[in-house]
Amino acid sequence: MPMKVLIVDDTNTDRLLLKLHLAKLGYRTIEASNGKEAIEQFTAHSDDLDLILMDVQMPYLNGFDAVRSIREIQEQQKQEWLPVIFLSASAEDDDVEDGILAGGDDYLIKPISQKILSAKMLAMQRIADMRRRLVESNLVLEELASTDHLTGVANRRAFEVMLEREMSFTRRYGMPMACAIFDLDKFKTINDTYGHDAGDAVLVEVVRRINKNLRDGDVIGRLGGEEFGMILPKMHEEEMLSAFDRYRTIVAEHPVVHEGVEIPVTASIGVAQYTGDNGDKLTLLKRADECLYEAKETGRNKVVYHSE
Ligand code: GH3
Ligand code: MG
Ligand code: MG
Repeated sequence: MPMKVLIVDDTNTDRLLLKLHLAKLGYRTIEASNGKEAIEQFTAHSDDLDLILMDVQMPYLNGFDAVRSIREIQEQQKQEWLPVIFLSASAEDDDVEDGILAGGDDYLIKPISQKILSAKMLAMQRIADMRRRLVESNLVLEELASTDHLTGVANRRAFEVMLEREMSFTRRYGMPMACAIFDLDKFKTINDTYGHDAGDAVLVEVVRRINKNLRDGDVIGRLGGEEFGMILPKMHEEEMLSAFDRYRTIVAEHPVVHEGVEIPVTASIGVAQYTGDNGDKLTLLKRADECLYEAKETGRNKVVYHSE
């Protein structure tokens, strides 16, 4: 992917020449004519900008100050380093030093020969490619750290983060929500009867069925073993039992077929409601767990909820 370069210069002809030269080399460009505009352009394009070419003497905000501000924004938003090259008419050693201290990676003295600029751009393209790979592998790592590898849904840690986020929405907007613990019945017997691989296949299939029928906004995560957490946002008390009973039915209505063998599967679900002021994450999960226990004690394959 050719770099996207922000060209910052208050002299129209300098900016135009740079733009033409970079376009000829195949790079994509955007422009700004002073330090203030540069910060605006950086903010608007920060997800796919690869390099900034920054003039130093400019009205409103000079190049050094603009780069200092940009570095601060990057720091706050935990963005990866973005290369900056200063372009200046001043060849003073002190200015070069100030440029690097302000956050520049290189400092070229105007007028800049096309050959030097092309060579520098090539070096910067290598850095841009490396930076893109780094950003991509960080995303993959984040994904891996939050996903259950067997079923592909959120793991316990990620589920709890989503639960906290949903609870804070409820506090802010006063819209009640439901949280449930969903546990497969007699799963140990399934493992013992059909084997551990069949047990794994049942877990994958149960999650696939729920995911396929997941209502917009509903969330499922694996809390561990054969136990899952569910969040149903914007859920009034009257609709709660039927919403979860729909999921219970989706799991129980057909046996899971593994290697030609039909395996009957049911689940018990304990449900708790959060209204914004009845406890915290732990007490919410605890109330759901108590209802789950009751569902297990009173026959399994059912949903239990108690109004407070
Ligand atoms: P209950 O109806 O009371 O929930 O009984 P249960 O047998 O489902 O519950 P129990 O907690 O006694 O057993 C859960 C079993 O799930 C034990 C464990 O070996 C099995 N298990 C946990 N994780 C996995 C997994 O990833 N794959 C498979 N195949 N089995 C698992
Ligand atoms: Mg179980
Ligand atoms: Mg269990």
